[in-house]
Amino acid sequence: MTGLPRAGQGPVVVVGGGVVGLCTAYYLAEAGLAVEVVERSGLGSGVSRGNAGWVCLSHSTPVPAPGVVRYALRSLGRPDSPLYLRPLPDPAFVRWLWRFWRSSTPAAFRRGYSAIAELNRDTFALFDGLREAGVATTLTRPGMVHAFLSPTEARHHLAIQRQMADDHYPMPDDVTTGTEAHLLDDALSPRVRAAYLVEGEGVVDPEAFARGLGEALAATGVKVHEHAEVMDFRTAGGRVTAVRTTQGEVPCSAVVIAAGMRSPRLLHALGHRLPLQAGKGYSFSVDLDPAPRHTLYFGERRAVASPIGDTTRIGGTMELSGNNNRLDWRRIVAVALASRHYLGRWFDDPDDLVSLIRDPWVGGRPFLPDGLPVIDRLPGHDNAFTATGHGMLGVTLGPATGHRLAEYVITGRRPDVLAPFRFDRLRH
Ligand SMILES: Cc1cc2nc3c(=O)[nH]c(=O)nc-3n(C[C@H](O)[C@H](O)[C@H](O)COP(=O)(O)OP(=O)(O)OC[C@H]3O[C@@H](n4cnc5c(N)ncnc54)[C@H](O)[C@@H]3O)c2cc1C
Repeated sequence: MTGLPRAGQGPVVVVGGGVVGLCTAYYLAEAGLAVEVVERSGLGSGVSRGNAGWVCLSHSTPVPAPGVVRYALRSLGRPDSPLYLRPLPDPAFVRWLWRFWRSSTPAAFRRGYSAIAELNRDTFALFDGLREAGVATTLTRPGMVHAFLSPTEARHHLAIQRQMADDHYPMPDDVTTGTEAHLLDDALSPRVRAAYLVEGEGVVDPEAFARGLGEALAATGVKVHEHAEVMDFRTAGGRVTAVRTTQGEVPCSAVVIAAGMRSPRLLHALGHRLPLQAGKGYSFSVDLDPAPRHTLYFGERRAVASPIGDTTRIGGTMELSGNNNRLDWRRIVAVALASRHYLGRWFDDPDDLVSLIRDPWVGGRPFLPDGLPVIDRLPGHDNAFTATGHGMLGVTLGPATGHRLAEYVITGRRPDVLAPFRFDRLRH
């Protein structure tokens, strides 16, 4: 193929300065290519900002899992449910749900999981490489405690996770139950009756990680255009020759569209449809005493807590209610209430939350209906690529995505590990 960036035709332009775009720009620049990043706002200001920062192997699964649709249907009209579906009279949304449902068979789930696990295999090595190259990744690996109110749920969960890990990474043999369970992390409440620790799982401060990547890019001479929105592309003979931004044109030898939830409108400008829906999630920061030392997963309520900087970030919910960034305070309260089962009574009255929490935040996880990202060259365009749809896994998979996609852009050959993330799988 002749999709390689050609000398003398300008830099590779990466559209989107979220974790996926920044990692891709990093590996392209590391390989010696001229690179420019165009970001409509500030680097790391999209959904890469307020997330839980997990970098993990044990929770890296596609969302369309067996039973998830039944679970979602039970949430109809219950905005306090961890997975909340608000049906929209929009044919694209209905089509997306239909395809999501079809992707939640055990066989499709296993295929999706294997594809993600394969891509994820080098994740921690890549984070180590970034750190050794001087990038302030902020990664620590305190391990992840899975906490449950019921031993039955915990055992069920561990059995599934052990099966998926398949000895590729260490999982505990059994669940700690009874009064010992909450001792796995100082922050857990005695109401936690079953828990297990998956050692080695990591966490970053996502804003600081994006900053670190931005600084590394600047140090290698990558030009970053912030507050410049890409509106359109100039094309000639099946190649993109320039991106048109609100600050003018940037000529390019190749383009990578990594614009998160806004990728579909850019892909549309190149003649492609991408069925992306936002899986809205919420987070906020709070000072807990004692604060968690590990990342925490609250099993029955599917909420999470992460030690980030010197504070605790609590997050959760998956809201399929259209592509908007409206913050619904009831969902913040629902996440806080869910966490109280596991962390103890850190507030008495939901009204107290206004003064206790900082930075209430909502972000739309970019989701394709089969729960896998798309990391590919665009059909019909020699030098246009895209990487988006990372759903719940953009921080974990950012470096692996960037590393493999850079290889694809540079060599023109799709690495085998990216085959499950092809664009053309989304056609039917
Ligand atoms: C509550 C919550 C918790 C999460 N926790 C985790 C976690 O623990 N671990 C994990 O791995 N993932 C987690 N995620 C998911 C993770 O945040 C996303 O998968 C990831 O941030 C996606 O990154 P991105 O670069 O694709 O998108 P974004 O971060 O949204 O980046 C896209 C960028 O493109 C820019 N852009 C858009 N359009 C244009 C344009 N036309 N021109 C120029 N720029 C443009 C945007 O401004 C934005 O900065 C969580 C998400 C949520 C909501």
